[in-house]
Amino acid sequence: MLPFLGLHVSYLARSNSLMAQQSSPLQSYITPPGLRSFIDVAPDSDFPIQNLPYGAFTPAAASTACIGVAIGDFVLDLSVLAEAGLLGDEARAQSYFSDPVLNRFMECGRSVWTSTRQRITELLRSDCTTLRDNAELRTRAFHRRDAVAISIPIRVGGYTDFYSSVDHARNVGALFRGPENALNPNWRHIPIAYDGRAGSIVVSGTDLHRPLGQTRPSDDAPPVFGASKSLDFELEVAFVVGTPTKLGESIPCSQVDEHVFGVVLLNDWSARDIQKWEYQPLGPFLGKNFGTSISPWVVTLDALSPFSVDAHPQDPQPLEYLRSARRVFDIQLEVAIRTAKMAPHEAHVTTHSNTKFLYWDHQQQLAHHTVNGCPVGAGDLYATGTISGPTPDSLGCLLEITKGGKQPVVLPTGEERRFLADGDSVRMRGWCQGAGFRVGFGEVSGAILPARTC
Ligand code: MN
Repeated sequence: MLPFLGLHVSYLARSNSLMAQQSSPLQSYITPPGLRSFIDVAPDSDFPIQNLPYGAFTPAAASTACIGVAIGDFVLDLSVLAEAGLLGDEARAQSYFSDPVLNRFMECGRSVWTSTRQRITELLRSDCTTLRDNAELRTRAFHRRDAVAISIPIRVGGYTDFYSSVDHARNVGALFRGPENALNPNWRHIPIAYDGRAGSIVVSGTDLHRPLGQTRPSDDAPPVFGASKSLDFELEVAFVVGTPTKLGESIPCSQVDEHVFGVVLLNDWSARDIQKWEYQPLGPFLGKNFGTSISPWVVTLDALSPFSVDAHPQDPQPLEYLRSARRVFDIQLEVAIRTAKMAPHEAHVTTHSNTKFLYWDHQQQLAHHTVNGCPVGAGDLYATGTISGPTPDSLGCLLEITKGGKQPVVLPTGEERRFLADGDSVRMRGWCQGAGFRVGFGEVSGAILPARTC
């Protein structure tokens, strides 16, 4: 057994808001930046020992998925380690790492997440012999990531999509209602959101058909039925709830990180023409729920917390229950489009953005979501909304980039895009840059297939 690494109390412990009912420090394990694994990891890999994101995969010789962590070019099979008794009694007895999704593990709560993360880190460090020098165990526990099938890591119970980027809300509001009415009067007081469709959340690599629906070609014409003509992406990240609450309970800002397991990238595919005709008065519906893609590796809050930064001040100051630690993550984000005419390795980067631009933070979002007693469950997702920055190269969807379809993007092939064409694929990446390593998300990608025939 290695020396005890110590529980590191990060910003998570300092996030007491004015609403705090209790201020017990939250447990977390922050990996020392200099720590190295016996697994070789390139400096530009998304998956060093400081990350260890959780995902679901099926080894080539197996028929059912189980849980692993990504490290370098490999997946470490946690079901094998748990069966060998290396992850503690609870992991062996409950065998939650043999499940095809993370839900039962996430329900165990933060103290189990912390001790598990710490134990996996110990087993992977360069000076730990337990796994490093056991060739038989190593063969069973490590798989090359490109040789396994990756599946959706969570059974999504509920999905909420916020609208938390002020640049995005202002840009889209100006397109829909004019610059004077861009931000609705409630926007700086409430983290605005709608409830999305959990059942149509898919994992990266799932291609989607262009949706059919009802649109209105012009303001003085009757509506028509057909395939969407203005299909778009939205660059977002989503927080994954782990520890559940019961109906009637609420989570103050200071306790949100007790409930949040991790973060994934999310592409909220959007049919703008369907959305524009249907969205008033109750918000998005069929323009959004034909498919929402997430990245397959859940990056834990512990892995991200060294990359938290102060959020921009809010004006006006929000109501008391929304006073959070005001920390946002410095996650660098990128969107690229690849058309059918481009070579497989080619893609055109349309966007560089960052979660640090968000106006409402993840503590405020979940505190608001639950303030009326709405319960949350393990596997619930709540997404940020499109993450746009203040500059023209940081816009998180085509609607903004092309100014409502008026100014096309010109691609290196000479092709133009106002919105996505059949055969196009969209790839989103995200990472936090450390000193000599990065904590990354991998990617969320998907292609657009032609509409099914009406
Ligand atoms: Mn969205």
